[in-house]
Amino acid sequence: MVLRTGEQYINAIKSRNKVEIYVLGKEVKDVTEHPFLKPSILSFKATYDAAHEEDSKFLARAWSPFINEEVNRFTHIHRSPEDLAAKVKLLRKLSHKTGACFQRCVGWDALNTLYIVTKLMAEKGKKDYYERFVEYLKYVQKNDIALAGAMTDVKGVRTLKPHEQKNAYLKVIEVTKEGIYVSGAKANITGIAAAEEVIVMPTRAMSDKDQDFAVAFSIPLDTEGIKVIVGRQLNDARRMEEGEIDALPYRTNHEGLVIFDNVFVPMERVFMLRDWQMSGILVEIFSAYHRQGYGGCKSGLADVIIGASYNLAKQIGVEKASHIQNKLTEMVLLTENMYSTGIAASLDAIKLCEDCWWVNPMFANVTKQLVTRFPYEITKLSTDIAGGILGTAPSEWDLKNSKLRPYIEKYLQGISDYPVEDRLRMVRLLENVSLSVAFLIESVHGAGSPEAQRIVLNRIYDYDYAEKIARYLANLEKTEFKDKTEPWRQTDTEKISQQKS
Ligand SMILES: Cc1cc2nc3c(=O)[nH]c(=O)nc-3n(C[C@H](O)[C@H](O)[C@H](O)COP(=O)(O)OP(=O)(O)OC[C@H]3O[C@@H](n4cnc5c(N)ncnc54)[C@H](O)[C@@H]3O)c2cc1C
Repeated sequence: MVLRTGEQYINAIKSRNKVEIYVLGKEVKDVTEHPFLKPSILSFKATYDAAHEEDSKFLARAWSPFINEEVNRFTHIHRSPEDLAAKVKLLRKLSHKTGACFQRCVGWDALNTLYIVTKLMAEKGKKDYYERFVEYLKYVQKNDIALAGAMTDVKGVRTLKPHEQKNAYLKVIEVTKEGIYVSGAKANITGIAAAEEVIVMPTRAMSDKDQDFAVAFSIPLDTEGIKVIVGRQLNDARRMEEGEIDALPYRTNHEGLVIFDNVFVPMERVFMLRDWQMSGILVEIFSAYHRQGYGGCKSGLADVIIGASYNLAKQIGVEKASHIQNKLTEMVLLTENMYSTGIAASLDAIKLCEDCWWVNPMFANVTKQLVTRFPYEITKLSTDIAGGILGTAPSEWDLKNSKLRPYIEKYLQGISDYPVEDRLRMVRLLENVSLSVAFLIESVHGAGSPEAQRIVLNRIYDYDYAEKIARYLANLEKTEFKDKTEPWRQTDTEKISQQKS
């Protein structure tokens, strides 16, 4: 089963018995046949097909020492800086194949996070979690499981701690010898209806009073007590029209609210239980992994937008105008900025243990901070180049109306080499990608809202050391320079990983 094809993945998620999945208020049993979810399933599928396609399999496959076989990289534990860079490159490439978010990254980052966190806990004497986790990892790799990752709690009043409010954080209700019972909800969970399993993690640092909320586990989606309410996106009803220009063939992501109503999790799937001291470290490790990845997927979507903008400029004969060239150049600069910080976060990785590599946390947070801004700039520039038609084009149903088509072809014609239908198709592609949840809203809030990265930048950057450098150069004091070039402090994760060795 290692290295599934896309078809094998689709067959695996066809039938669900216990989970309840709701789309637009109605329960859906077969997610693979539902038009609302189909574009999302196709995007997931691309992650499987990539491991078999000649142009991408060198990135989409990796060797696993855990099962001594090649696995899909989406289940791989990074073993070198080059592995981390391959992640970013794979994500950029997959964006070209989907034009959308492909939804397997959160689960993948959760696997890598739990590998490190359970290992750190094992080094402090709690060996069970690590042993359970490695068994689970082998199962995921052997079966090429589609994972979602659920970190974000619904959080209620943001300024109150978990124990200070009701129903805002997922909670351990009961612990037995066999397992645990949990209740609560996780919000905005990418790809949840199309995933086979979900990995649940705490969303913030916790205190001893919050220990019932400090829990990490994995659970098959098809488990009694789990309910998924799939969220809406702009233009989503177009998917129900069964067209082939206005909505499909574009792929999308979906997100959902996942409700856990007294769900039983067997003990072999529990990877953290009331270890409140480790929840802050877990969040630090996960968020840096996830922020690094955005350098790949968002630069890949930007490539699609640049290509569509260039084509639309050609269709109306303006591609050589100096301001259009400047705008395209600016889009390239913004795109390559996001990508290069993601690559830097990978190649300047930090070795936390013999076989665990963590991304450079400063560069990872810079990557995501750029991603909170640049996609909006890129979308603005592409809207400028495409013209108002981006928001006003007739529908494919108008084009397919034999009475209207001659008028549309007559009045929307640009350079005669390009049929009007090509223009409409390209406009729709640009609209679906540049104004998508994946390129805009996810870029701001996915992997944490903008302020979350700025907090980390300030925590790592050593202003005192920078001040010492300035005081030295101003002849105000003698400075002992550190070995390290960058004026950076260590993260809590680095400190903890050094304490044990
Ligand atoms: C498209 C998309 C996909 C996602 N996919 C996943 C996923 O697969 N898995 C997952 O776990 N999560 C996922 N997320 C969730 C994401 O991580 C959260 O959206 C993010 O952490 C922000 O949380 P929030 O949405 O609750 O924002 P909010 O907390 O509601 O933030 C709103 C504003 O309040 C501010 N704020 C929040 N708390 C405080 C405070 N204490 N003090 C001062 N200001 C505060 C924020 O900075 C922000 O400006 C996804 C989000 C999106 C949009």
